[in-house]
Amino acid sequence: MIPYGRQDITQADIDAVVEVLKSDFLTQGPKVPLFERTVATKVGARHALAVNSATSALHIACKALGLGPGDWLWTTPVTFVASANCGLYCGARVDFVDIDERTYNISPKALEKKLIAAEREGKLPKVLVAVHLCGQSCDMEAIQALAQRFGFRIIEDASHAIGGKYKGQYIGSGRYSDITVFSFHPVKIITTAEGGMALTNDDYLAEKMNLYRSHGITRDPSLMTHDADGPWYYQQLELGFNYRMTELQAALGISQMGRLDDFVARRHQLARRYDDALRDLPVVTPWQHPDSYSALHLYVIRLQLDRIGKSHREVFESLRNQGIGVNLHYIPVHTQPYYQRMGFKPGDYPEAERYYAEAISLPIYPAMTEEQQNQVIAALARTIQE
Ligand SMILES: *Cc1c(COP(=O)(O)O)cnc(C)c1O
Repeated sequence: MIPYGRQDITQADIDAVVEVLKSDFLTQGPKVPLFERTVATKVGARHALAVNSATSALHIACKALGLGPGDWLWTTPVTFVASANCGLYCGARVDFVDIDERTYNISPKALEKKLIAAEREGKLPKVLVAVHLCGQSCDMEAIQALAQRFGFRIIEDASHAIGGKYKGQYIGSGRYSDITVFSFHPVKIITTAEGGMALTNDDYLAEKMNLYRSHGITRDPSLMTHDADGPWYYQQLELGFNYRMTELQAALGISQMGRLDDFVARRHQLARRYDDALRDLPVVTPWQHPDSYSALHLYVIRLQLDRIGKSHREVFESLRNQGIGVNLHYIPVHTQPYYQRMGFKPGDYPEAERYYAEAISLPIYPAMTEEQQNQVIAALARTIQE
């Protein structure tokens, strides 16, 4: 089976991890801060906090922004459930904004309309999670303008998007948001096995997230309520969690960061080959906004079902039967049973649901060969033309 995504691990990556295993620190050593500096410097952010997953990063980001009971978090329905669940972890309520028909990202027009209505009802969101689907940035300029007008905070869920750019700047620079989150799950752009990171230019938010990722505990005398009792002393200031990243993971991350730009460039090569090869098939290939240099975590096509003699599911199953590990990103979150129990129902976000009825993620990852890609293209052509 050709997977839809997979990690790229070199001997140098392996050596980096083994070196840590032989060292004094498996956790809370020098590699995590070095990984944080490496990523922060690369994307142009002031602070970076490494954690054990992007899900944890989203949680501490929401906590740092003060999200709690009585508050609303808004996000897109076309995302992984974690982008919404982080609001529920904080006791806040979650709502969704429909997607743009071309980028599949949250629609600034739909967002503005919903904000105007929410303002009338006194139900404005405290936090918006803007998800850069497939690695393509949201329209951050428009979203930031709305945030200033309506007074909400922005978390960029850039789990797909490390190495991508928006208006010439690396995603994560924080120019248009309060906090940006990356994921290092093996299918994503770079990996630490499990892992994530929260980046910000705000000293206060960085300090809060630093507390929340490690039990709410500090050893920094300047943060304590009184002088230390002695050299052993620490204080718990918040109810935090153990979301720390290990040294093994950070060493792998540092080693992977050296190939970040190459990974994204290779994804672009593969995407261009798909664009060319699929041009005459009844599918819609990914549209790229001119402001965006996507990290291309995913290559999503949409089937033009009125021109294909098979259903969406039949095409999907036929590809899987031919050894092509296609996938579907994502089942709209509001249609999940857990969310339907809160009152959401199919039909609530028509653009997201139209997307779900047609979308298929084709395999794309840096180590994919052209032969493998040709196999995918041939299988797809066979399936939808026969
Ligand atoms: C993968 C992903 C996450 C969660 O990442 P983990 O590191 O697995 O916790 C969150 N949001 C989006 C959009 C993702 O793709």
